[in-house]
Amino acid sequence: MNELIAKGLNGPKVGFVSLGCAKALTDSELILTQLSAEGYQTSKTFHGADLVIVNTCGFIDDAVKESLDTIGEALAENGKVIVTGCLGAKAGENGSNLVRQMHPSVLAVTGPQATQEVMDAVHANLPRPHDPFLDLVPNSFGVAGIKLTPRHYAYIKISEGCNHRCTFCIIPSMRGDLVSRSIGDVLKEAQALFEGGVKELLVISQDTSAYGVDVKYRTGFWNGRPIKTRLQELVQALGDLAEPFGAWVRLHYVYPYPSVDEILPLMAEGRILPYLDVPFQHSHTEVLKRMKRPASGEKNLERIQRWRQVCPDIVIRSTFIAGFPGETDAEFEHLLDFMREAKIDRAGCFAYSPVHGAAANDLSGMLPATAREERRARFMAVAEEVSSTKLQQRIGATMQVLVDSAPGMGKKGGIGRTYADAPEIDGLVKLLPPEKISKTLKVGEFTKARVVGTQGHDLVAQPF
Ligand code: SF4
Repeated sequence: MNELIAKGLNGPKVGFVSLGCAKALTDSELILTQLSAEGYQTSKTFHGADLVIVNTCGFIDDAVKESLDTIGEALAENGKVIVTGCLGAKAGENGSNLVRQMHPSVLAVTGPQATQEVMDAVHANLPRPHDPFLDLVPNSFGVAGIKLTPRHYAYIKISEGCNHRCTFCIIPSMRGDLVSRSIGDVLKEAQALFEGGVKELLVISQDTSAYGVDVKYRTGFWNGRPIKTRLQELVQALGDLAEPFGAWVRLHYVYPYPSVDEILPLMAEGRILPYLDVPFQHSHTEVLKRMKRPASGEKNLERIQRWRQVCPDIVIRSTFIAGFPGETDAEFEHLLDFMREAKIDRAGCFAYSPVHGAAANDLSGMLPATAREERRARFMAVAEEVSSTKLQQRIGATMQVLVDSAPGMGKKGGIGRTYADAPEIDGLVKLLPPEKISKTLKVGEFTKARVVGTQGHDLVAQPF
C-alpha cells in the first residue's frame, strides 16, 4: 500500500491508496500526476482528506479482500470514497458491480486505466482549485509525470490488456484485449525518465512479447524517424536511449514466443540487461493446454538452453502454479524435472487457488488444498536448491550494483541490486561498509562490488 504525504497547505486534499501490481502503480501515477497538475493536494491520512481514492486489485481472492477492507476503512474514516482499478471492473455473485454491492455508499467506481473517469468523479465531488499558473501548464511534471517508485528506478507500461484467455486468470475480463501504446510516446516517456535521473527502467505490460500485435506492428515515429511498433525495435531504441545515462533496461512478462529469440543478441551485447521475466506457469504440455497458456510448446527447455548459448549471463525469472486442476503425479514430477534442468535462476510458485470468475474453476480434478500446498513446498525446495547453487557460483565475482539504500552518509554499507535482481521481487545485495575511506555509497548510483558470500536469496558484497 502506498500512501502519499501532504504536499502543501492550500487546496482541496485527496487521500490516495494504491494497491496491487506494478501495472496498477502506473495507473496511480497517472491519476496523481493529473491531480497535482490541477492543483489538488494529497493527504497521508483518510481523516485529513476531503475525499479518498482507492486504486484496487482484483486478481486473487486475498487481493479482493484487502481491497474491499481498505474501501471499508476509507468509508468509515472519511466517508467520501472513489474506487478505481481492477476490482472496480469486477462483477459480484448476482452479476452487478462487486464494489457497489459490498459498499453501496462509494461515490464512484471505475475499472483500471481510467484516469479521465476518476478525474470526472473527483471534479463532481471536489471542485478543482483554480490556479492561474497551473491552469496554463498542462502537465507541470513533464512527460514522465509523478512516480511512486524511488527516483532511480521506474516502471514503464507499454501496453494494456491481453489477447489470451488463460483459464486461471481474470485479467482480460478486467483490463480488456491488448492495446499497445504508441512507440513514440513510450520512447518519449523513457527519455524523460532517464533525463530525470532514472537508472533502471522496468518494461511492464500483461504480455510484453505481444507489443504491437494489435496495431499490426504499424510504423510509428521517433525523433522524426520511422520505427515499427514491435518489441525488438522498442528494446533496441530503449537500449540506445539508456546508454548515455549508463542506465539499465529490464524486461518483465515476456512470453517465450519465437520472436523473443531476436532480443537475446541485444542482451549479449549489453544493450539491455540479460534478464528475462518469463511466466512459464508449468512445463507439461497437457497442463499448459488446460491452462490455455500462450507459447505452450514442449520446446521451452531447448529454448532456454539456446538462450543461454547466445547469452551465457542471462538470468531467468519465472512463476509457476503447482496443483492446477487435474495435475497428475507424473505431470508434477515433469515440472520438478524441468526446474532442475532449466535451472531457473529466480522462481516463485503459487499453490493453485481458485479465482472467482476464472474458467479453471469448471475444470475437473481439483486437488485438495493440502496436496496443492505440499506440491508448492516441494517445488520451492527444488527452486531454492537451484537458486542457492547459482548464488554460490557468484562468490568472488565483481558485479555492478545499483544502490537502493545507503545509511550513514554511505559509509556504513547499504543495500543494492545487481542485474540479476529486479526490485521488490528478487534478492538483494547486502553491501559491506566500503574499505576505502574515500569511498561512499550513494542511493541511485552504481558501485562495483566483489561478492564475498550469500545469505538466503541475497548476496553479500564488498564495494570498491
Ligand atoms: S497471458 Fe494469461 S495470465 Fe497473462 S494476463 Fe493474459 S490471460 Fe492473464
